[in-house]
Amino acid sequence: LSSKLPNVGTTIFTVMSKLAQEHKAINLGQGFPDFNASQDIIQLVTKAMQDGYNQYAPMPGTIELREQIAIKTERMYGYAPNPDTEITVTSGGTEALYAAISAIVSPGDEVIVLEPCYDSYVPAIELNGGIPVFVSLSSDDFSINFSQLQNAITSRTRAIIINTPHNPTGTTLTQKDLQFLAILLRDRNIYLISDEVYEHIIFDGQQHQSVLRHAELRERSFVISSFGKTYHVTGWKLGYCIAPRELSTEFRKVHQYLTFSSFTPLQIALAEYLRNPEPYESLPQFYQQKRDFFVNLMQQTRFSLLPSRGSYFVLASYGHITDESDTDYAIRLTKEIGVATIPLSVFYNNKTDNKLLRFCYAKKEETLERAVERLMKI
Ligand code: PMP
Ligand code: GLN
Repeated sequence: LSSKLPNVGTTIFTVMSKLAQEHKAINLGQGFPDFNASQDIIQLVTKAMQDGYNQYAPMPGTIELREQIAIKTERMYGYAPNPDTEITVTSGGTEALYAAISAIVSPGDEVIVLEPCYDSYVPAIELNGGIPVFVSLSSDDFSINFSQLQNAITSRTRAIIINTPHNPTGTTLTQKDLQFLAILLRDRNIYLISDEVYEHIIFDGQQHQSVLRHAELRERSFVISSFGKTYHVTGWKLGYCIAPRELSTEFRKVHQYLTFSSFTPLQIALAEYLRNPEPYESLPQFYQQKRDFFVNLMQQTRFSLLPSRGSYFVLASYGHITDESDTDYAIRLTKEIGVATIPLSVFYNNKTDNKLLRFCYAKKEETLERAVERLMKI
């Protein structure tokens, strides 16, 4: 069989989680919380199932959930998308990303990807016959170099994918970044796919720069979110895409045949749970506390942490400790020290090794403490 994805193996998240399990290591690799979701949402889902909401949901999502998403979006970003025509509920951010890419990318189209980047973008582009064009974020602070971005644009550029807060680096885009992007795209027929799954996990009083705040950009954008991150339920796989009517129409054509619709009981429950803004509005504070706790503890180790301004990831530099490759080092740390991380090089097309490891701190304080105790042995 000639593979459609010859360069794709098992994702690093699965590889490191499996290795962590085999060696009984503390897993700060794959991004997921090790604490439970609120009992309130769990009870609402249970109730929805008991009440009989167990058949297909409407293809674009239940109208009640889409209405609540519209209300939340207006509250957060001052823009109310039309629930009928501009919001589609999906089976996680991953499906939304795939559907958005598939809706617009035809064979030979170029899609600009800023790297390091989340690992699902490139296979989704390639499966649709698209050509990923890589532009590296600056190696010191992972900001966008707009002249490099401009140079990467050609007559075949169909879309650009951005992600803020950013996985794997924990950086965030600024209002200026969005303004530059708007100027760059003005008069160009290029779509924007904005991965905002960590929209509520942002620190130090920053405002999340959603593309939805920006009238000019949102007209050409698919904005993607995930309840998995917001409500500590990564295994529930429910997300959504907000896009203008024309784009949503094409998006729904893909969604309709990819999954048709997403898990019904969850949609019923979330339509209710979303009425209370407190759980998502308290998230910055909740995770900032975890970040500070972990960053403080890590000062006792030899790692140097880079700033984490959003998401639940932080990068740690170790080049002064060893010159092992980041992958070798991550494997050795898992096996010998008992802490699993993710090597940053896997998020680059050419596997650039800057001697950085990604730690996930969406964990109980005791988990972080136990991990750092182990890391102090280095
Ligand atoms: N984008 C980014 C940047 C992510 O970190 C994730 C979660 N791994 C996703 C998209 C996918 O979200 P979901 O788990 O809802 O499919
Ligand atoms: N988003 C998670 C991470 O970056 C992993 C998701 C997955 O395992 N596919 O760690």
